[in-house]
Amino acid sequence: MPRTECVNCDTGFMTRKETDVPVTVRGKEYLVPIEALVCENCGFVELEPKETAEIMRRAADCYRQDHGYLTSTELRARRQRLGMTQKDFADWLKVGVASVKRWEMGQIQDECMDELIRLKTDPEVAEETARKVRELTSAQAPKLLWREPWRFQTTTQGVPVIPERTPAQPHVQQSRQAEYCYIA
Ligand SMILES: [Zn+2]
Repeated sequence: MPRTECVNCDTGFMTRKETDVPVTVRGKEYLVPIEALVCENCGFVELEPKETAEIMRRAADCYRQDHGYLTSTELRARRQRLGMTQKDFADWLKVGVASVKRWEMGQIQDECMDELIRLKTDPEVAEETARKVRELTSAQAPKLLWREPWRFQTTTQGVPVIPERTPAQPHVQQSRQAEYCYIA
């Protein structure tokens, strides 16, 4: 294979080797290691479009790791663990399939989307979220009863239920009903 001359310095020759390419992601520079054509003389790096895409993906993953987001590799692994195609996964998250493809190619997902993905791909996160929601709603339930006691009754589990009929004079019955709700 004929040796290629460097287009940058015109004197050195290009050799395939491992090199670090600096890439800036959202204002932060990352050195991404990749095997590419490098000039022996001036260090100029020549990248194929495929290599450029790979570098961008790796740099985005460095940023994601720094900020606690799921990386493109993790995203793909989570999707595959659910046995879903990119289209299935997009439907599951209620986003377009193009978004799923872009995230796996390297585009960084929003923080709220990262959280939704964890919620819909990790049973432990889903269970922890359910536990928190239960905790919050049960902490709020007595306050709801106190504020609008004539509108709520509770089941034996303490869940507010809406009565079939609203009392004709709610304000008159408020104190008596409130007392009843707390006892119940
Ligand atoms: Zn050169």
